[in-house]
Amino acid sequence: RVKGKWATTLPKHPPTRLALQHFDATYSAQLGDLWPSVRVALLSERKYGALLNNFCHSPDLEELQAQGSAPLRLHQAGLWPLAAVNKAPQGETIWSEFWSIMPDKFGLLSYYLMDAASVLPSLALDVQANHTVLDLCAAPGGKALALLQTQSARFLCLNDSSVSRTSRLKRVLHSYAPKELLTDDKLRITSVDGTMWGEIERNSFDRVLVDVPCTTDRHSLMEDDNNMFSRSRVGERRSLPRLQAELLLAGIIAACPGGEVLYSTCTLCPSQNLGVVERAVQLAEENHGIRLQVVSLRPLVRMFQNTFHFAPDLHLGEMVVPHLAANFGPIYMCKIRRLA
Ligand code: SAM
Repeated sequence: RVKGKWATTLPKHPPTRLALQHFDATYSAQLGDLWPSVRVALLSERKYGALLNNFCHSPDLEELQAQGSAPLRLHQAGLWPLAAVNKAPQGETIWSEFWSIMPDKFGLLSYYLMDAASVLPSLALDVQANHTVLDLCAAPGGKALALLQTQSARFLCLNDSSVSRTSRLKRVLHSYAPKELLTDDKLRITSVDGTMWGEIERNSFDRVLVDVPCTTDRHSLMEDDNNMFSRSRVGERRSLPRLQAELLLAGIIAACPGGEVLYSTCTLCPSQNLGVVERAVQLAEENHGIRLQVVSLRPLVRMFQNTFHFAPDLHLGEMVVPHLAANFGPIYMCKIRRLA
Protein backbone atom coordinates (compact mmCIF):
# COMPACT_ATOMS: atom_id res chain seq x y z
CA ARG A 1 0.00 0.00 0.00
CA VAL A 2 1.39 3.38 -0.99
CA LYS A 3 0.84 6.07 1.59
CA GLY A 4 -0.13 9.45 0.24
CA LYS A 5 2.31 12.25 1.02
CA TRP A 6 -0.34 14.06 3.00
CA ALA A 7 -0.48 11.16 5.43
CA THR A 8 3.01 11.95 6.67
CA THR A 9 2.73 15.74 6.65
CA LEU A 10 -0.72 16.36 8.13
CA PRO A 11 -0.44 17.11 11.85
CA LYS A 12 -1.99 14.48 14.09
CA HIS A 13 -3.82 17.12 16.06
CA PRO A 14 -4.55 20.06 13.76
CA PRO A 15 -4.91 23.33 15.71
CA THR A 16 -8.46 23.78 14.38
CA ARG A 17 -9.47 20.47 16.00
CA LEU A 18 -7.71 21.38 19.27
CA ALA A 19 -9.59 24.68 19.24
CA LEU A 20 -12.93 22.93 18.76
CA GLN A 21 -12.17 20.51 21.62
CA HIS A 22 -11.23 23.43 23.85
CA PHE A 23 -14.35 25.42 22.94
CA ASP A 24 -16.59 22.37 23.42
CA ALA A 25 -15.23 21.94 26.91
CA THR A 26 -15.32 25.59 27.99
CA TYR A 27 -18.12 27.28 26.01
CA SER A 28 -20.66 24.52 26.60
CA ALA A 29 -20.31 25.23 30.32
CA GLN A 30 -20.39 28.99 29.78
CA LEU A 31 -23.19 29.24 27.20
CA GLY A 32 -25.25 26.18 28.19
CA ASP A 33 -28.17 25.55 25.81
CA LEU A 34 -26.95 28.31 23.52
CA TRP A 35 -23.63 26.58 22.71
CA PRO A 36 -24.86 24.03 20.07
CA SER A 37 -26.34 26.79 17.88
CA VAL A 38 -23.35 29.11 18.40
CA ARG A 39 -21.07 26.18 17.52
CA VAL A 40 -22.90 25.54 14.25
CA ALA A 41 -22.75 29.23 13.36
CA LEU A 42 -19.02 29.42 14.15
CA LEU A 43 -18.38 26.42 11.92
CA SER A 44 -20.52 27.79 9.08
CA GLU A 45 -19.60 30.33 6.46
CA ARG A 46 -19.44 33.70 8.10
CA LYS A 47 -21.14 36.81 6.83
CA TYR A 48 -19.09 39.80 5.76
CA GLY A 49 -19.94 43.42 5.93
CA ALA A 50 -18.72 45.93 3.40
CA LEU A 51 -17.84 49.18 5.09
CA LEU A 52 -18.68 51.70 2.40
CA ASN A 53 -16.00 54.29 1.89
CA ASN A 54 -17.52 57.70 2.21
CA PHE A 55 -14.43 59.30 0.66
CA CYS A 56 -14.63 57.30 -2.57
CA HIS A 57 -16.25 58.98 -5.53
CA SER A 58 -17.70 55.83 -7.08
CA PRO A 59 -19.57 54.03 -4.31
CA ASP A 60 -20.27 50.46 -5.26
CA LEU A 61 -23.41 49.81 -3.24
CA GLU A 62 -25.36 49.16 -6.44
CA GLU A 63 -22.73 46.74 -7.63
CA LEU A 64 -22.87 44.94 -4.27
CA GLN A 65 -26.66 44.78 -4.45
CA ALA A 66 -26.42 43.38 -7.97
CA GLN A 67 -24.28 40.59 -6.52
CA GLY A 68 -27.12 39.73 -4.15
CA SER A 69 -26.01 41.68 -1.09
CA ALA A 70 -28.64 43.27 1.08
CA PRO A 71 -27.83 46.73 2.42
CA LEU A 72 -27.62 46.95 6.16
CA ARG A 73 -27.53 50.52 7.44
CA LEU A 74 -25.54 50.58 10.62
CA HIS A 75 -26.32 54.07 11.67
CA GLN A 76 -29.47 55.91 10.85
CA ALA A 77 -28.84 59.11 12.74
CA GLY A 78 -26.76 60.72 10.02
CA LEU A 79 -23.66 60.87 12.20
CA TRP A 80 -22.39 57.63 10.82
CA PRO A 81 -22.14 57.76 7.05
CA LEU A 82 -21.77 54.06 6.67
CA ALA A 83 -23.58 51.08 5.30
CA ALA A 84 -22.69 47.45 5.14
CA VAL A 85 -23.94 44.45 3.25
CA ASN A 86 -25.12 41.42 5.08
CA LYS A 87 -24.87 38.68 2.52
CA ALA A 88 -21.56 36.89 2.46
CA PRO A 89 -19.49 36.52 -0.66
CA GLN A 90 -19.73 32.82 -1.45
CA GLY A 91 -16.28 31.35 -1.02
CA GLU A 92 -12.80 32.38 -1.97
CA THR A 93 -13.43 33.17 -5.63
CA ILE A 94 -15.96 35.83 -4.95
CA TRP A 95 -13.92 37.02 -2.00
CA SER A 96 -11.12 37.89 -4.38
CA GLU A 97 -13.60 39.44 -6.81
CA PHE A 98 -14.66 41.66 -3.97
CA TRP A 99 -11.09 42.79 -3.65
CA SER A 100 -10.67 43.50 -7.35
CA ILE A 101 -12.77 46.65 -7.01
CA MET A 102 -11.49 49.49 -9.14
CA PRO A 103 -10.15 52.57 -7.38
CA ASP A 104 -11.80 55.91 -8.14
CA LYS A 105 -9.94 58.70 -9.96
CA PHE A 106 -8.12 59.60 -6.73
CA GLY A 107 -7.00 56.01 -6.19
CA LEU A 108 -9.45 55.32 -3.33
CA LEU A 109 -11.31 52.04 -2.97
CA SER A 110 -15.05 52.00 -2.40
CA TYR A 111 -15.49 49.45 0.38
CA TYR A 112 -13.59 47.51 3.03
CA LEU A 113 -14.66 43.98 3.89
CA MET A 114 -14.92 43.08 7.54
CA ASP A 115 -17.17 41.30 9.99
CA ALA A 116 -20.10 43.73 10.22
CA ALA A 117 -20.07 43.42 14.03
CA SER A 118 -16.50 44.74 14.02
CA VAL A 119 -17.75 48.28 13.44
CA LEU A 120 -19.62 48.19 16.77
CA PRO A 121 -16.54 48.99 18.93
CA SER A 122 -15.86 52.08 16.77
CA LEU A 123 -19.50 53.11 17.14
CA ALA A 124 -19.53 52.39 20.87
CA LEU A 125 -16.50 54.65 21.31
CA ASP A 126 -18.83 57.55 20.48
CA VAL A 127 -16.21 59.94 19.15
CA GLN A 128 -17.39 63.54 19.32
CA ALA A 129 -16.22 66.64 17.45
CA ASN A 130 -12.72 67.70 18.49
CA HIS A 131 -11.89 64.52 20.35
CA THR A 132 -8.39 63.11 20.39
CA VAL A 133 -8.44 59.34 19.86
CA LEU A 134 -5.90 56.60 20.46
CA ASP A 135 -6.28 53.18 18.82
CA LEU A 136 -3.71 51.13 20.74
CA CYS A 137 -3.81 47.92 18.61
CA ALA A 138 -4.87 49.32 15.27
CA ALA A 139 -3.64 47.04 12.47
CA PRO A 140 -4.79 46.12 9.89
CA GLY A 141 -7.10 49.08 10.38
CA GLY A 142 -10.78 48.12 9.98
CA LYS A 143 -11.92 49.89 13.13
CA ALA A 144 -9.62 52.87 12.51
CA LEU A 145 -11.15 53.19 9.05
CA ALA A 146 -14.63 53.16 10.57
CA LEU A 147 -13.49 55.91 12.97
CA LEU A 148 -12.07 57.96 10.10
CA GLN A 149 -15.38 57.76 8.25
CA THR A 150 -17.05 59.88 10.94
CA GLN A 151 -14.44 62.67 10.49
CA SER A 152 -15.20 63.70 14.10
CA ALA A 153 -11.81 63.18 15.68
CA ARG A 154 -9.52 66.18 15.82
CA PHE A 155 -6.50 63.90 16.12
CA LEU A 156 -6.14 60.16 15.63
CA CYS A 157 -3.19 58.19 16.94
CA LEU A 158 -2.89 54.66 15.54
CA ASN A 159 -0.48 52.19 17.08
CA ASP A 160 0.38 48.53 16.57
CA SER A 161 3.44 46.75 17.92
CA SER A 162 3.86 44.67 14.76
CA VAL A 163 5.96 46.50 12.17
CA SER A 164 4.64 44.41 9.26
CA ARG A 165 1.03 44.88 10.33
CA THR A 166 1.65 48.62 10.78
CA SER A 167 2.85 48.74 7.15
CA ARG A 168 -0.39 47.05 6.17
CA LEU A 169 -2.34 49.60 8.22
CA LYS A 170 -0.60 52.41 6.32
CA ARG A 171 -1.47 50.79 2.98
CA VAL A 172 -5.10 50.44 4.05
CA LEU A 173 -5.28 54.10 5.09
CA HIS A 174 -3.78 55.28 1.82
CA SER A 175 -6.23 53.12 -0.13
CA TYR A 176 -9.29 54.46 1.67
CA ALA A 177 -8.68 57.93 3.06
CA PRO A 178 -7.89 61.17 1.22
CA LYS A 179 -4.43 62.66 1.79
CA GLU A 180 -5.90 65.70 3.62
CA LEU A 181 -6.96 63.40 6.48
CA LEU A 182 -3.57 61.76 6.77
CA THR A 183 -1.47 64.82 7.55
CA ASP A 184 0.74 64.98 10.66
CA ASP A 185 -1.55 67.42 12.45
CA LYS A 186 -4.47 64.96 12.17
CA LEU A 187 -2.88 61.54 12.30
CA ARG A 188 0.09 59.84 13.96
CA ILE A 189 1.05 56.23 13.30
CA THR A 190 3.38 54.46 15.72
CA SER A 191 4.65 50.93 16.14
CA VAL A 192 5.48 50.43 19.81
CA ASP A 193 4.53 47.90 22.46
CA GLY A 194 1.18 49.23 23.65
CA THR A 195 1.76 47.98 27.20
CA MET A 196 4.51 50.65 27.46
CA TRP A 197 2.29 53.51 26.25
CA GLY A 198 2.24 55.08 29.72
CA GLU A 199 5.91 55.93 29.25
CA ILE A 200 5.02 57.96 26.16
CA GLU A 201 1.79 59.71 27.06
CA ARG A 202 -0.54 59.72 30.07
CA ASN A 203 -3.87 61.39 30.84
CA SER A 204 -4.20 62.63 27.26
CA PHE A 205 -6.85 61.11 25.02
CA ASP A 206 -10.62 61.70 25.03
CA ARG A 207 -11.22 58.26 23.60
CA VAL A 208 -9.09 55.10 23.58
CA LEU A 209 -9.82 51.92 21.66
CA VAL A 210 -8.11 48.78 23.00
CA ASP A 211 -8.90 46.05 20.46
CA VAL A 212 -6.55 43.39 21.77
CA PRO A 213 -4.96 40.27 20.27
CA CYS A 214 -7.05 37.28 21.36
CA THR A 215 -7.80 33.69 20.38
CA THR A 216 -9.89 34.98 17.42
CA ASP A 217 -12.35 32.11 17.79
CA ARG A 218 -13.54 31.94 14.19
CA HIS A 219 -10.02 31.92 12.79
CA SER A 220 -8.96 29.30 15.35
CA LEU A 221 -11.76 26.99 14.19
CA MET A 222 -11.30 27.48 10.45
CA GLU A 223 -7.59 28.03 9.67
CA ASP A 224 -4.63 25.92 10.75
CA ASP A 225 -2.16 28.62 9.67
CA ASN A 226 -1.22 31.18 12.29
CA ASN A 227 -3.51 29.45 14.79
CA MET A 228 -3.30 30.25 18.53
CA PHE A 229 -4.15 26.62 19.32
CA SER A 230 -1.09 25.16 17.58
CA ARG A 231 1.05 23.26 20.07
CA SER A 232 3.96 25.68 19.65
CA ARG A 233 1.80 28.60 20.86
CA VAL A 234 0.38 27.14 24.07
CA GLY A 235 2.44 29.52 26.22
CA GLU A 236 1.46 32.54 24.13
CA ARG A 237 -2.23 31.57 24.32
CA ARG A 238 -2.15 31.07 28.08
CA SER A 239 -0.50 34.43 28.62
CA LEU A 240 -3.08 36.31 26.52
CA PRO A 241 -5.25 37.47 29.47
CA ARG A 242 -2.18 39.00 31.14
CA LEU A 243 -1.13 40.83 27.95
CA GLN A 244 -4.73 41.97 27.37
CA ALA A 245 -5.01 43.35 30.92
CA GLU A 246 -1.69 45.19 30.52
CA LEU A 247 -2.89 46.71 27.23
CA LEU A 248 -6.21 47.75 28.74
CA LEU A 249 -4.45 49.25 31.75
CA ALA A 250 -2.15 51.20 29.39
CA GLY A 251 -5.23 52.43 27.52
CA ILE A 252 -6.85 53.56 30.79
CA ILE A 253 -3.70 55.45 31.79
CA ALA A 254 -3.54 57.08 28.33
CA ALA A 255 -7.12 58.41 28.66
CA CYS A 256 -7.71 61.82 30.18
CA PRO A 257 -9.90 62.18 33.28
CA GLY A 258 -13.45 62.09 31.91
CA GLY A 259 -12.19 60.18 28.88
CA GLU A 260 -13.61 56.83 27.78
CA VAL A 261 -11.95 53.53 26.92
CA LEU A 262 -13.48 50.79 24.82
CA TYR A 263 -12.09 47.29 25.29
CA SER A 264 -12.90 44.72 22.58
CA THR A 265 -12.03 41.20 21.47
CA CYS A 266 -13.32 38.70 18.94
CA THR A 267 -13.54 35.76 21.33
CA LEU A 268 -16.32 34.36 23.53
CA CYS A 269 -13.80 33.44 26.23
CA PRO A 270 -14.73 35.05 29.59
CA SER A 271 -11.15 35.10 30.89
CA GLN A 272 -10.17 37.25 27.86
CA ASN A 273 -13.28 39.41 28.18
CA LEU A 274 -14.84 40.33 31.52
CA GLY A 275 -11.95 38.71 33.42
CA VAL A 276 -9.54 41.16 31.76
CA VAL A 277 -11.75 44.18 32.40
CA GLU A 278 -12.09 43.28 36.09
CA ARG A 279 -8.33 42.78 36.43
CA ALA A 280 -7.37 46.02 34.65
CA VAL A 281 -9.90 48.09 36.63
CA GLN A 282 -8.51 46.63 39.86
CA LEU A 283 -4.90 47.38 38.83
CA ALA A 284 -5.80 50.93 37.75
CA GLU A 285 -7.47 51.64 41.08
CA GLU A 286 -4.95 49.93 43.35
CA ASN A 287 -1.68 50.80 41.61
CA HIS A 288 -2.49 54.12 39.95
CA GLY A 289 -5.29 55.64 42.01
CA ILE A 290 -7.47 55.87 38.90
CA ARG A 291 -11.21 55.68 39.57
CA LEU A 292 -13.36 54.20 36.83
CA GLN A 293 -17.00 53.67 35.99
CA VAL A 294 -18.46 51.14 33.57
CA VAL A 295 -20.58 52.80 30.87
CA SER A 296 -23.68 50.90 29.75
CA LEU A 297 -23.76 49.85 26.10
CA ARG A 298 -27.47 48.95 26.33
CA PRO A 299 -28.56 51.84 24.04
CA LEU A 300 -26.25 50.50 21.32
CA VAL A 301 -27.59 46.97 21.86
CA ARG A 302 -31.17 48.20 21.54
CA MET A 303 -30.30 50.02 18.32
CA PHE A 304 -28.81 46.89 16.73
CA GLN A 305 -30.76 44.06 18.32
CA ASN A 306 -32.48 43.28 15.00
CA THR A 307 -29.17 43.08 13.16
CA PHE A 308 -26.90 41.23 15.58
CA HIS A 309 -27.50 38.51 18.12
CA PHE A 310 -26.36 39.70 21.56
CA ALA A 311 -25.57 37.46 24.53
CA PRO A 312 -28.24 37.77 27.19
CA ASP A 313 -27.39 38.86 30.74
CA LEU A 314 -23.64 39.54 30.69
CA HIS A 315 -22.83 41.26 33.95
CA LEU A 316 -20.05 43.31 32.41
CA GLY A 317 -20.02 44.53 28.80
CA GLU A 318 -21.92 43.26 25.76
CA MET A 319 -21.17 40.47 23.31
CA VAL A 320 -22.29 39.73 19.75
CA VAL A 321 -22.75 35.97 19.56
CA PRO A 322 -22.67 34.17 16.19
CA HIS A 323 -26.07 32.89 15.13
CA LEU A 324 -27.08 31.17 11.88
CA ALA A 325 -29.61 33.90 11.17
CA ALA A 326 -27.05 36.66 11.92
CA ASN A 327 -23.68 35.07 11.49
CA PHE A 328 -21.50 37.92 12.74
CA GLY A 329 -19.07 38.05 15.61
CA PRO A 330 -18.05 37.05 18.15
CA ILE A 331 -17.32 40.57 19.37
CA TYR A 332 -17.03 41.43 23.04
CA MET A 333 -17.09 45.10 24.12
CA CYS A 334 -16.87 46.86 27.44
CA LYS A 335 -16.74 50.62 27.91
CA ILE A 336 -15.15 52.32 30.90
CA ARG A 337 -15.08 56.00 31.84
CA ARG A 338 -12.16 57.46 33.74
CA LEU A 339 -13.44 59.54 36.63
CA ALA A 340 -10.10 60.79 37.93
N1 SAM B 1 -8.10 46.91 15.58
C1 SAM B 1 -7.65 46.15 14.45
C2 SAM B 1 -8.62 46.29 13.31
O1 SAM B 1 -9.78 46.66 13.52
O2 SAM B 1 -8.22 46.06 12.17
C3 SAM B 1 -7.42 44.69 14.79
C4 SAM B 1 -6.47 44.50 15.94
S1 SAM B 1 -5.99 42.83 16.18
C5 SAM B 1 -7.37 42.17 16.95
C6 SAM B 1 -4.84 42.96 17.46
C7 SAM B 1 -3.57 43.68 17.08
O3 SAM B 1 -2.81 43.86 18.27
C8 SAM B 1 -2.67 42.96 16.11
O4 SAM B 1 -2.51 43.72 14.96
C9 SAM B 1 -1.33 42.84 16.86
O5 SAM B 1 -0.20 43.07 16.02
C10 SAM B 1 -1.46 43.92 17.90
N2 SAM B 1 -0.65 43.73 19.11
C11 SAM B 1 -0.27 42.58 19.72
N3 SAM B 1 0.44 42.84 20.83
C12 SAM B 1 0.52 44.19 20.94
C13 SAM B 1 1.14 45.08 21.86
N4 SAM B 1 1.82 44.63 22.91
N5 SAM B 1 1.02 46.41 21.63
C14 SAM B 1 0.33 46.88 20.57
N6 SAM B 1 -0.25 46.08 19.65
C15 SAM B 1 -0.18 44.76 19.85
